[in-house]
Amino acid sequence: MHQLTLAEIARGLADKKFSSEELTKVLLARIAQLDPQLNSFISLTEDLALKQAKAADARRANGESGALLGAPIAHKDLFCTQGIRTSCGSKMLDNFKAPYDATVVAKLAAAGAVTLGKTNMDEFAMGSANESSYYGAVKNPWNLEHVPGGSSGGSAAAVAARLLPAATGTDTGGSIRQPAALTNLTGLKPTYGRVSRWGMIAYASSLDQGGPMARTAEDCAILLQGMAGFDPNDSTSIDEPVPDYSASLNGSLQGLRIGVPKEYFSAGLDPRIAELIHNSIKELEKLGAVIKEISLPNMQHAIPAYYVIAPAEASSNLSRFDGVRFGYRCENPVNLIDLYKRSRGEGFGPEVQRRIMVGAYALSAGYYDAYYLKAQKIRRLIKNDFMVAFNEVDIILGPTTPNPAWKLGAKNSDPVAAYLEDVYTITANLAGLPGLSMPAGFVDGLPVGVQLLAPYFQEGRLLNVAHQYQLNTDWHTRTPTGF
Ligand code: GLN
Repeated sequence: MHQLTLAEIARGLADKKFSSEELTKVLLARIAQLDPQLNSFISLTEDLALKQAKAADARRANGESGALLGAPIAHKDLFCTQGIRTSCGSKMLDNFKAPYDATVVAKLAAAGAVTLGKTNMDEFAMGSANESSYYGAVKNPWNLEHVPGGSSGGSAAAVAARLLPAATGTDTGGSIRQPAALTNLTGLKPTYGRVSRWGMIAYASSLDQGGPMARTAEDCAILLQGMAGFDPNDSTSIDEPVPDYSASLNGSLQGLRIGVPKEYFSAGLDPRIAELIHNSIKELEKLGAVIKEISLPNMQHAIPAYYVIAPAEASSNLSRFDGVRFGYRCENPVNLIDLYKRSRGEGFGPEVQRRIMVGAYALSAGYYDAYYLKAQKIRRLIKNDFMVAFNEVDIILGPTTPNPAWKLGAKNSDPVAAYLEDVYTITANLAGLPGLSMPAGFVDGLPVGVQLLAPYFQEGRLLNVAHQYQLNTDWHTRTPTGF
């Protein structure tokens, strides 16, 4: 039963082959048995899951239907869940029980999804390896000595190991697409403003976006349907109708114009990944797509711009964790300054502290123009590059990451080496564009992802291309040994 996709689960539940309660029990037992190897969950919510599963079964018995009704999922542990710990992977919030549900959590619960637990993540979503979590590193089910990617590494590892069919993630600079690529999943970062950020603990507010992680594009369509939509509680949410994503899957790719940026294949890309990306291009050509070389000339400036803007926003967002209002508070403070200093010094891990310092520095008087303002100008140039490219092509295609999953600990002493892994993903966040990663093959037994980018609100087009590709390839069906 654990091999079923969301789409297959929906059919099985509709045909009464099994109940949501039965399925939920199977998956909870599987998590108990296998997750100690992976560490993909921070909290399990067995009681809630069984209650939600029974309620979903009752709704189906009353004639209700719906692709998510009774479907088991998990949430990255930065989506607030009422009465349940929402840690953000940090000691700072280890004792924090959210007083309300995030919009995404509430919408999925209303659609009948069953929450099995909260997944592990890099602390405050800062990282690309899931090694900065206060709850320990997550292991990649494809090779337990390697990282699963980050920051949504727990969601990725759990879904890849068939502990559950799908999970939510968030993507500020690649945290849905990169772990999806490194664990052989399909992951979608929607257009900025498509999915509500209300109740999603903020890292960099102008870049953060929640989205689905699953094995197939078909399942991402189902999960995104439950997540997307206007939310008056989020001032950056966009009031744009949500199309039927599942209905968009079956369009023909005949004549689809795919742009391949020449900058994507420069030094730094593992040549074995380049070869797999070229194979995926050939596959899409067979399906009728037309390939065109394009240029994104400002791409080289993306990493420095992102690593100014994201820390700047983080330093501001994380100022609320001060030991006073909620979260960790140090023992026996002698005065207010001591309380702030020690609560933050003891509550935040090293990567979070590094970013707060970088961000505060970049925003400080005298440096603001040189760093923050400059980075914002680069951001606009990067967006303009995409606008020019999308005048000529319908989709942009390239690798999701320059390398496959690295060994645990391999980049710990050199944060910049880890930052460079984000080179292909962060431009979509800087421009606010939707992007998807899907399985494209293996290097040394480790999965490789191909990334697709589309114009604003064209999530349906991304899902369509990925689904057609998946009907003609079987990379996404491969299961890691031992799971
Ligand atoms: N790796 C990037 C960072 O560390 C992206 C993280 C994310 O998307 N949350 O900032």
